[in-house]
Amino acid sequence: MATDTRLYLFTSGSTRTEMQFLTLNQGHGEPVSPPLPFYVVTHPEGNVLIDGGNPLAVAEDKRAYWGEIVDLFDPVMSPEDHVVAQLEATGIDPESIRYVVQTHLHIDHTGAIGHFPNAKFIIQRRELDYARSPLYIDAGVYLPADIAKTGEVDWLFLDGYDDDGYDVHGDGVIRLLFTPGHAPGHTSVLVSLPETGEVLLAIDAAYTMAHFEQMALPGVVNSGVDLARSVARLRRVADRGGALVVPGHDPTTRETLKHAPEYYG
Ligand SMILES: [Zn+2]
Repeated sequence: MATDTRLYLFTSGSTRTEMQFLTLNQGHGEPVSPPLPFYVVTHPEGNVLIDGGNPLAVAEDKRAYWGEIVDLFDPVMSPEDHVVAQLEATGIDPESIRYVVQTHLHIDHTGAIGHFPNAKFIIQRRELDYARSPLYIDAGVYLPADIAKTGEVDWLFLDGYDDDGYDVHGDGVIRLLFTPGHAPGHTSVLVSLPETGEVLLAIDAAYTMAHFEQMALPGVVNSGVDLARSVARLRRVADRGGALVVPGHDPTTRETLKHAPEYYG
């Protein structure tokens, strides 16, 4: 198993939906199938999982777990697409995961919760607080069955801008950027690799490169003002370090990126 620093990109299946849910106020009725990514950074001081795609229950009986949400966001996922199965298939021992970065708690990012008992889960405190009692505009994107499991998790809490740039191993390899807007406690991730250089995982601050390029907002917005500021901030970070930018749910960009078992070193 790899002990050097590598970034692996995985996809936990996809979602059949309509364009207006990917990009705000655009493409009503137009079908689109965005991917559901998660990421692993292998590191000599402990491996890090960033999100976990969909929960396993979605692959088993999506309507039983998600209910009517599947009429708007129809997940296409088999049990082999779950995070634990994919790590095992790639030769990454799930027990080697020391940290899980939970970038936010939307339903398509919660696949690691309830797994990885050896890991500390890192999250913005305000994200967990909000997920437990969201406003009606966000009620559909936080699943009570997922949030019920968060009581069992060993959390490491971050407090917004006070902890901005949190360095997971203390060596500059993985830094967590507070980027609220899509969700109140949303985190983006800057990974610094020995050969590739900087990779900016925008996560859902930018579903697509059009969102990163400030041409539109994602279809799910908690605060448009916060989100626009977060994207402006991510663009400065990417410019400064010449980062490779990875958007959160881009059906086209992801075809140009390396996927596990390939990796960025
Ligand atoms: Zn999201």
